Amino acid sequence: MLSHASVLLALLLAAAPWPSPEARVSVLPLPPLASRIRIAIDAGHGAPGNTGNWGCHCQSEADETLVEATELSRRLRRFGFTVLDTRTTPLGAKYPARIADIEAFKPHLVVSLHTDARADAWPHETNPDGGVCFSNPKDPGFAVLWSEEGSDAIVKRRETWGRAVSHELRAAGFLPYSGEDYGSLYRDDDEPACFVDARPIKQRVYFLRATSVAPVIIVETHHALDPVEVDRWHEGATHEAFAAAIASAALKVVENR
Ligand SMILES: [Zn+2]
Repeated sequence: MLSHASVLLALLLAAAPWPSPEARVSVLPLPPLASRIRIAIDAGHGAPGNTGNWGCHCQSEADETLVEATELSRRLRRFGFTVLDTRTTPLGAKYPARIADIEAFKPHLVVSLHTDARADAWPHETNPDGGVCFSNPKDPGFAVLWSEEGSDAIVKRRETWGRAVSHELRAAGFLPYSGEDYGSLYRDDDEPACFVDARPIKQRVYFLRATSVAPVIIVETHHALDPVEVDRWHEGATHEAFAAAIASAALKVVENR
């Protein structure tokens, strides 16, 4: 029989929300693949002159997404997926060249990994160059973005893929971001943590609308200014749970299960 103390501890652990160190993410069970699902994984940024944001430890978004993409693609290959990595080095190709690679690869699905730098931040660390890096311990969580530009058919495929990814990430225990700092940049989808690019046409995110060969989504994996959430993304268990959630969403979308 459990003691009162251990029941209390169990309740506390169950209640601790992501990204608290006590919060656990789970690896969703995966059935064997019935087909060779082809997926392109883009490590966001890392093109010439494009490092993305700077996080609370002065880490660049391009470096973080390269680690995330490498961890994801290794695991998806292990699950039996056929994977295209659009960037495998700190400095990679420009986005149009990545899109050309994706179109040649003819994937079922495309996911581009990014991190967000949200809202107001305060000085946190000084990097070796003397620059200051900022933190904001609020607003953690993931977000999924897609574009409504293009034919009804491709927009529907993006919506299906984006909503499935959000659903599976939440099922694994990741926290859906509210989107409160996106303002008018994105329109809220009905599914939590899903947002549709709603900028004036010329300001829309290029990568999201650049191809209709397959549905493209961006996953903002975490808040780069939140030291607690950044730490969680340096754990193998987080990459394991994230990869299983992406794989599970892909199976649902491509194989309908
Ligand atoms: Zn980004």
